[in-house]
Amino acid sequence: MVAKPNYIMSEIIDSNLSVAGDASQALSTRKKINLGLIAIGILLVLWGIYDEKTAFSYQKLAGFTAIFVGVGLFEYKFWYQNVGSALFTAGLIGMYYGYTEGGDDRYYALMGAFALMLIAAGFFTYDPSKKNYFGSQYVKNINMTQKLGTFIAMAGFSIIALSWISSAFEPAEGQTSAIYDFLMVFPNNAAIFLTISIVAMGGGILLYTFGSYAGHTKGIKNNYVMFNSLSSRGAIGWIVGIVLTVFYVQLYWHAAPLANAIDLFDPLSQLLRGKEADQWFLYGTLYTVVILFLGIKFIYKYRHSRYHLIRTIVVILSQLILAYFIPYIMESLSYNSADVLVEGQKQYGGYYSANPINSWPLNKDAFSDAHLRAYTQEAYQPVGLAYLFWGILLFLVVTPVVTYFVGKRWYCSWFCGCGGLAETAGDSFRHLSNKTVKAWNIERWVLHSVMVFILISTIAALFPYLTKKEYAIGFGSINKNSFYAFVSVILVAGAAVLFYLRATRFKKNKFLLIGGIIFSAVFLLLTIAYFSGGKEVFVIKSTSIKKAYGFFVGAAFSGVIGVGFYPILGNRVWCRFGCPMAGYMGIVQRFKSKFRITTNGAQCISCGNCSTYCEQGIDVRAYAQKGENIVRASCVGCGVCSSVCPRGVLKLENGPEDGRLDGNPLIVSKDGVKLNM
Ligand code: SF4
Ligand code: SF4
Repeated sequence: MVAKPNYIMSEIIDSNLSVAGDASQALSTRKKINLGLIAIGILLVLWGIYDEKTAFSYQKLAGFTAIFVGVGLFEYKFWYQNVGSALFTAGLIGMYYGYTEGGDDRYYALMGAFALMLIAAGFFTYDPSKKNYFGSQYVKNINMTQKLGTFIAMAGFSIIALSWISSAFEPAEGQTSAIYDFLMVFPNNAAIFLTISIVAMGGGILLYTFGSYAGHTKGIKNNYVMFNSLSSRGAIGWIVGIVLTVFYVQLYWHAAPLANAIDLFDPLSQLLRGKEADQWFLYGTLYTVVILFLGIKFIYKYRHSRYHLIRTIVVILSQLILAYFIPYIMESLSYNSADVLVEGQKQYGGYYSANPINSWPLNKDAFSDAHLRAYTQEAYQPVGLAYLFWGILLFLVVTPVVTYFVGKRWYCSWFCGCGGLAETAGDSFRHLSNKTVKAWNIERWVLHSVMVFILISTIAALFPYLTKKEYAIGFGSINKNSFYAFVSVILVAGAAVLFYLRATRFKKNKFLLIGGIIFSAVFLLLTIAYFSGGKEVFVIKSTSIKKAYGFFVGAAFSGVIGVGFYPILGNRVWCRFGCPMAGYMGIVQRFKSKFRITTNGAQCISCGNCSTYCEQGIDVRAYAQKGENIVRASCVGCGVCSSVCPRGVLKLENGPEDGRLDGNPLIVSKDGVKLNM
């Protein structure tokens, strides 16, 4: 079966031009006006937030209107993309309303906001030629083993799903409900039903895998991926997207309906941590089970490749050991807080997330009060201090050095939990990533904005906090002075590196310039606050900045959109558009690394498989056709482009830096042929 590429020719031509950095990317007048309106809108909203009188002040209303008009009337090729962007903006405004509210109002506002965003995603990804929404062609063609595997896995999952929905049938006091009584059989017999559920889900997935790939020659088979309702934005894909979105909204903001499903996980939680399950234990367990079994599916599917075999084993072990067992076992050993008394109070949360691979900036809570206490208080030692130093070492030394040698793939495609889920559970959705130049532009602006946001939010939260408190760490202390010195060195060094790169090799790169200016400005503001004795570094209240980051980025973006929208927007939405850790490593990978994907252009038959299956939306074929090295900040080195290439054109390599960035000397584009100087 021939796979249908999910992009159109005009977009590929655009991509080729952008790869060459062609001047034809210049903005039209309409786009300039749109962007101007959006910029004015953002400034007005920030002004409104600074004033902070009401949830919707005049400034905010005017700002949201300007953003809505700017985004809604943006110059797109198709009208439905305008409808999509207008709805997406309305969803964002709804999210802001939810952010300002509490309780049930917040819950319903967020449900509405994400519903609008899902509909927006539907308009954005609308394909007028698509007919087969139920994937009947796929269902007719899968074999009996696949059908049986699907049935068993769904039966296992339905135990959790039925426990989840049971709260909706809970009768009023003094009344009874037969449905509720039936559904409560599962959480009331949690040990047995949780075991059955996990065994059935795992067994079903393995059976499906066996039915799909056993008996076939080795090599990737993506048969029917464009016709399967789940993986081609058909009805099942939409249902899964909606269910995941509702689950994430409840997980983050309204866990009450999950109560009976959480009870189902109690026996396992008691066994591992010695305490009752909560929504995060339920989530962590499901997350790990999914990575484990779909990881095995991935290994079997890509069994011809040693790279995928080793990488996926690391992905599974990293999730199982580093992200799941170590934090929970440490918690049960009381390194995590629950039994630790500070000033007579029981502390909670200090070591919940002691995943040793999850450092700042991905872990936004790395410098929360609970973690600062755990790093420094006697009761947590020696683990607390070790975790602090390991976190700093991981961020400042290990990450840039390893990324220099092998690219960011060591983290994004080998160790990271978000990447682990994307590579295993998300494998069926990798072709849904958007390959257009517009998406690439949005990616760069949004990702770098999130990086600035986490930098500002961390400094904003820590600075006033450390003006009041001091944490002794044996040979010194974490206080306002050491914080100022440490952060200043990082900011000044960061600005110097960015300016240096721009002044030498990358003379036209605007992102390096903007980054350098932002680092300098943050250093200046911090210095002013430090010497003037002020409390707030960035004018807006520090607590609001931190709270906003946790809400909009930490929960809504990374969780609800990042995973909930897998079946609609692809499996790496968060990694590509939002993850500050990926952004940090992307800068190293782009400008100072040995990693690249080499292309043997003469062998390329332009089939487009590589671009189709690139989860990061990179138009790999455009590079291959020109025989150019692929050196993109966003490439996570998953290696799938190379594996799906029928001609062996693409090779992931770590080699000398010399010549790594040199493109093809001749650029052929719709503007003519010119020298690549
Ligand atoms: S370019 Fe290749 S290795 Fe990089 S993210 Fe895309 S598919 Fe993976
Ligand atoms: S590089 Fe390989 S997969 Fe990509 S277009 Fe060329 S032949 Fe096809």
